[in-house]
Amino acid sequence: MGKYIFITGGVVSSLGKGVVSASLGFLLRASGVGVTFLKFDPYLNRDAGTMNPYQHGEVFVTEDGAETDLDLGHYERFADVVLGKPNNVTTGQIYGTVLDRERRGDYGGATVQVIPHVVDAIKEAIVAAGTPGADLTLVELGGTIGDIEGMPFIEAIRQFILENGKDEAVLLHLALLPGLPAGGKELKTKPAQHSVQKLRECGLQMDFLLCRSEVPMPDEARRKLALHTNVKPERVIEVPDVRLIYNVPEHLHRQGLDRLLCERLKLPRRPPDLTPWRNFAAAVASPKRIRIAIVGKYAGMADCYKSVGEALLHAAAARGRGLEFSWLDAEELELGDARARLDGHDGLVVPGGFGVRGAEGKMRAIRWAREGKIPFLGLCYGLQCAVVEFARAACAAPAAASAEWDEGDRFSPDDCWITLLDNQGRATPRGGTLRLGSQPCRLAPGSRALAAYGTGLISERHRHRYEVNPEKVPALERNGLIVSGRHPDNGLVEIVELPGDQWFVATQAHPEFKSRPLRPHPLFLSFLAAAAAGPPG
Ligand code: GLN
Repeated sequence: MGKYIFITGGVVSSLGKGVVSASLGFLLRASGVGVTFLKFDPYLNRDAGTMNPYQHGEVFVTEDGAETDLDLGHYERFADVVLGKPNNVTTGQIYGTVLDRERRGDYGGATVQVIPHVVDAIKEAIVAAGTPGADLTLVELGGTIGDIEGMPFIEAIRQFILENGKDEAVLLHLALLPGLPAGGKELKTKPAQHSVQKLRECGLQMDFLLCRSEVPMPDEARRKLALHTNVKPERVIEVPDVRLIYNVPEHLHRQGLDRLLCERLKLPRRPPDLTPWRNFAAAVASPKRIRIAIVGKYAGMADCYKSVGEALLHAAAARGRGLEFSWLDAEELELGDARARLDGHDGLVVPGGFGVRGAEGKMRAIRWAREGKIPFLGLCYGLQCAVVEFARAACAAPAAASAEWDEGDRFSPDDCWITLLDNQGRATPRGGTLRLGSQPCRLAPGSRALAAYGTGLISERHRHRYEVNPEKVPALERNGLIVSGRHPDNGLVEIVELPGDQWFVATQAHPEFKSRPLRPHPLFLSFLAAAAAGPPG
């Protein structure tokens, strides 16, 4: 059995536990330790798929088609691992498992209870998240210690450590040290002490205390916390606010956290070489910036398009450049002078989205890019909008639309250039399920997509319900749109592009989920190379 690091949070939520866990995963992996992750989300939703991105941020999609919390994106990117369904578990899933077992009679007539049945199912999930190559599983518990929803998970962690022995698992607790402005920003340790006490009430003694604070932690605060929380001062680790999340691993490493954890868990390690990561972080901070407009419905919140922003940063950094993002609200582009808002940007991205709101604004932006030969990258919904925009402008189909925008079955099927299909390419009734997870795609010879990917058969992650209407493909091609990627089995449109010297590529997939800081995605690299070079001719 592998070893375990459990990570809980205290005082307030949104302390950045996900980034800390991901940073630790990166450091340990760079030290030669095989890592994997498990995120426990104590809400009752079965998964993040039905949750509003405004509240919860991006829904991250894994290779095996799980719709997960965005922390899995941090884990995959920082530690360069591939995760899946077993790596994000919610209370809804745990209860689903227990209730299914009850109906099957698996409990043999027993009264089904939180202890032992729910807690046992949580412990099984901890074991199930481990993969053969992983020496270590980092288990992050969402929420804050003391939350009612989190209690069964805390109890499961207690039992798990008791049953497996202290050499097999360590507990990290991340708490906030607030600084009061009136006290000259003096950091207050009392709330952190209380959250550690709360853990103790639940039978858990943490091994490392990580302290998030706005300003560096003075030695005095470290000594005080160590004394009151029953750990050595070297195990009180500072996590100060940093300008870039990519600087977090460096901070933890400088305080020896990765070394101390390996010593505590008796895991062999080699000193990590952080040079490539440091170079990447330095490039992201470069003052030489590429200006990219991102037009979306949730444009107010970069968290809703987390992986898109990340993929762009990775690719820009590979060119030694930083990025200047403009998050533009698609609906606002419908009202005023869209061109005035867009002019001056080096490239346009239209990312994924759902529903009719903002679609016209996205198409205005795409038209601006197409006519001005500004590099354009469409992602999922971005491809669908690009196809409709092209149909209206170049295929003499002014009523072209997506069936998704029809709020009352009023659209003629002939106007639906984007439509509902099953995977065989036949029309199905409404309410088909989402196409999720990794799907293959064959690229056309001579295409820009093939030049970018450098290989003819690729696979990318999907999350959508609608498809380019196969009946409209001949008209699109006749009028100059190139279908440069198709599903090899059912022929569905995966990638479209414009011919000639303009960088205009849109994909039905979400390539952003596969980009890594040190392995930027080829499509994003190609797009940013074009954006950095400026419009042709
Ligand atoms: N709403 C579109 C669909 O369901 C696109 C989804 C997306 O962009 N992820 O097909």
